[in-house]
Amino acid sequence: MTVEFPAAGGGFIYLDHAAATPLRPEVAEAMQAATDGAFANPSSPHAAGRRARAVLEDCRERILSLVGGRMSGGHRDRLVFTSGATEANRLGVLGSGRAAGTMARPGVVGVSARDHSSIMRAAERLAADGWGMTMLPLDGRGSTAAAAAEFAATNRGRMPLLCTTPVCGQTGIHDAGWRTFPERNQPPTLLVHADATQAAAWHDLSWQSSGWTSLAFSPHKFGGPRGIGALVIRSDLPLAAVVPGPQELGLRGGTEAVALAVGFARALELAVAERAATRRRVSDLRDRFERGCVAAAAAAGIEALVIGTSYDRAPHVAAIAFNGFDRQAIVMAADLAGVCLATGTACASGSSEPASAIIGLGMPAWVARGAVRASIGATTSEHDVETALDRLDLVFRGLASQGLQNAASGR
Ligand code: PMP
Repeated sequence: MTVEFPAAGGGFIYLDHAAATPLRPEVAEAMQAATDGAFANPSSPHAAGRRARAVLEDCRERILSLVGGRMSGGHRDRLVFTSGATEANRLGVLGSGRAAGTMARPGVVGVSARDHSSIMRAAERLAADGWGMTMLPLDGRGSTAAAAAEFAATNRGRMPLLCTTPVCGQTGIHDAGWRTFPERNQPPTLLVHADATQAAAWHDLSWQSSGWTSLAFSPHKFGGPRGIGALVIRSDLPLAAVVPGPQELGLRGGTEAVALAVGFARALELAVAERAATRRRVSDLRDRFERGCVAAAAAAGIEALVIGTSYDRAPHVAAIAFNGFDRQAIVMAADLAGVCLATGTACASGSSEPASAIIGLGMPAWVARGAVRASIGATTSEHDVETALDRLDLVFRGLASQGLQNAASGR
């Protein structure tokens, strides 16, 4: 059966840009050109293969340079293309962990409630191999900085592997402490894997001065294609392949997707060039949405709380909790009314577990239970936000009357 889909729109207002953004036309154009002109296998030694190889390597250099990678001299940084940030996180955590630790002397990995499930799964895999695993608490600013410093000091000599998420996918809270980790040292005595998937569009990653040893992100969060991601690694970081094969410096097997790499590089170039202006516009829209949502909920007699307003936040995520309501119910009701929201990261949607990143902030139970995520993107318009608020006004009134009915019937 072929599923029909409309060319654009579809009658819904899309406020889930933290899950995926629409492909930018400039990116689609560049990808089409690469699909036509660089279709060959980059590992083929003939002219067509050499052309595909040259295009792929050009993309690698452009992306590395845009995140502040070291491009020349004896210690050039490396970039491995993967299928997305999920795989890049797994390669960064498991690959660097396995290369650093040995069966005789396993290391210790530090994670936090801010981290994506792909990091947690990779850390659990290391734990199954005999590694220690420490859950770092969040401080009053939603940051792991203090706990991370202590973790590094306590585990000195054990090759600690610290995972850090500069922008939390659940709340948008920016971890201001992530640059206070030790500067690069030779050779590294502390491994730091950063998941910049929600940060890359909005923050200057300045890889070289970050103190990180590996960095994962993917372009479908900023107008690029899905199905590709990248892991940036220090020149001197030993890494064990998770998917063995001769491609990608022997660190990730499989024929490289050249057109996707072209889309990745183009999308990142555009996101970086437009970053300042897009940040301002998107955070204004996010603030407008938050104010309107709280007012519409209040008009329906529902208490709503915007999470993280006193924290340093990336501009695109609004995490709002509704007292007395389950987040799944709100997301479903909003969907029926034509507004696409999320309960949290798409990978955890459908899960009835309360969002760990919100619990980690020490919020009351109703906040974690009733928190939904709306996320704004570069293509969101003022009209989108106003239309979404009009629709949500009706949603809240409907839910409130239902809530009263439930209370009255004692359910
Ligand atoms: N890390 C974070 C913080 C994310 O938000 C996501 C996507 N939800 C991922 C990793 C996984 O990215 P991908 O979809 O490219 O595998």
